[in-house]
Amino acid sequence: MLKGIAVSSGIVVGKVYKLVQPEIVLKEEKGETSAELAAFKAAVAKTRTDIEKIKERAAGKLKPEELEIFDAHLTMLDDPEYQGQIEAKINDGSNADLATKEVTDMMVNMFSMMDDAYFKERAADIKDVGQRLLCNVLGLKVPDLTAIDEEVIIVASDLTPSDTAQMDKKFIIGFCTEEGGRTSHSAIMARSLEIPAVVGCKGILDATTDDMIIAMDATSGDVVTEPSDDVKEDYIKRGNELKAEKEALKVLIDQPSISLDGHKVEIAANIGTPKDVDGVINNGGEAVGLYRTEFLYMDSKEDFPDEETQYEAYKAVLERMEGKRVVFRTLDIGGDKKLDYFQFPEELNPFLGYRAIRLCLDRQDIFRTQLRAILRASAYGRAAIMFPMIATVDEFKRAKAIYEEEREKLVKEGFNVADDIEVGMMVEIPASAIMAEKFAKYADFFSIGTNDLTQYTMAADRGSKEVSYLYQPLNPAVLTLIKKAIDAAHKYGKWCGVCGELASDIIAAPILLGLGLDEFSMTAPSILPARKMIRSLNYEEMKDLAAKVLELESQDEIRAYVEDYLDSKN
Ligand code: PEP
Ligand code: MG
Repeated sequence: MLKGIAVSSGIVVGKVYKLVQPEIVLKEEKGETSAELAAFKAAVAKTRTDIEKIKERAAGKLKPEELEIFDAHLTMLDDPEYQGQIEAKINDGSNADLATKEVTDMMVNMFSMMDDAYFKERAADIKDVGQRLLCNVLGLKVPDLTAIDEEVIIVASDLTPSDTAQMDKKFIIGFCTEEGGRTSHSAIMARSLEIPAVVGCKGILDATTDDMIIAMDATSGDVVTEPSDDVKEDYIKRGNELKAEKEALKVLIDQPSISLDGHKVEIAANIGTPKDVDGVINNGGEAVGLYRTEFLYMDSKEDFPDEETQYEAYKAVLERMEGKRVVFRTLDIGGDKKLDYFQFPEELNPFLGYRAIRLCLDRQDIFRTQLRAILRASAYGRAAIMFPMIATVDEFKRAKAIYEEEREKLVKEGFNVADDIEVGMMVEIPASAIMAEKFAKYADFFSIGTNDLTQYTMAADRGSKEVSYLYQPLNPAVLTLIKKAIDAAHKYGKWCGVCGELASDIIAAPILLGLGLDEFSMTAPSILPARKMIRSLNYEEMKDLAAKVLELESQDEIRAYVEDYLDSKN
């Protein structure tokens, strides 16, 4: 049995689909010219069918202009110049694979050296088509998430957020990766999409082959390859029980998040893309407490998304939330979130470096475009904005001033912009928690990013397995900072939320409630279990509990204390 980190709950048994790029090894022996020509022609025909099928499946999911990319790929594949050059090489004695590779490489080089941005971008398309064609010449499987049409469990080294976003829940019943941790972004996406997932499962790539059956328990992190009938039966039974439990919670969808003694809080959702809003609605989310807008930037392949593209995405989310608050976090890029089209400076500590609001205050062109898009979309619902990684009051004031400028410009240009947009900030750097009162004068609200607040308070990289023992969101040091932020917000009549993963931790809920937290923002599937928990607690009692745990010395003691308390209630 292998063991990983369970990051998105569910228990499944299914066939493996390995998402690994095939290793290209060219043939050594020389083939007959006629056979090589025939192999090439067959590969062209198969590549054409593959692209047509992908286009067909994508229709309805993608916008018409996004679908055009497949037509462009077909045109490239059938370009007489491209095919003609490959055939000429085969006729001159080359094997089909070598000829395809050489001509593709040559074309990619030629296009990428052109000055015109349009042609430069085509280099990536030719590379894509050429790679698919070459794999087909060699008879290799090209992994393609959109082509999956039967139930599978994806096995990969790691998944990018865009791989995760492409997954169709109907067929992808789970995924298991070698890399990643609880707060890695593919894990966060898996929870939003409600796909059972185990990450950081060392050895899974070597232990599995395509079509092998595995049983995965994404509540404990256990993965069994080629399970016996008994194990299979046990996993299926427990999987069904878990589903039934989740189903039973659905009665709470329209219920308020209120304690036994009538203290009301808000349970909101974290989203990464407009697609995630379905999950928010289906799970009774009262708001969107964190929209990680950077996923839009990470999905974009060639350049920063323009104002129009962003506006459309933001508007779609606001419209679907029908007047419920949507907190747009401005671009939080850097650290583990990189872009294909932007060169970050070489830094020894990227998590402490040029990222998030630091980058936005420096590259105001990027920041202003995003603010304009959010402001324009604000006419379609209840938008709020928050800035990530604020360390100094000056940063907040500068970011807010830029926001005010863009707002004024838009109003002058005649755009309809909402006039009640709250402008808040994330508290995720210890400096801003320690100085929370100073910030609370200016910010309309705080949202505590416990993922980063923990990593910076404990000086323990959130993605590192080696120091994971120090990654302690319930350490009294972190809880003390959380209390400071909540108290400061309340002193100035502002509200305070938590949007890090701690918000959905069932052990943390009694403490956060007792500290007076106003909003709990989490991935959609966690909402109903959290609501059930809040509805079972007494606020006044939780105030005492929170005061007690802050006196304790360690995370272990705090967990044990809350667990004992909860056990005594059951
Ligand atoms: C956090 O740091 O807690 C947070 C919510 O933001 P992210 O996980 O995207 O860094
Ligand atoms: Mg963060």
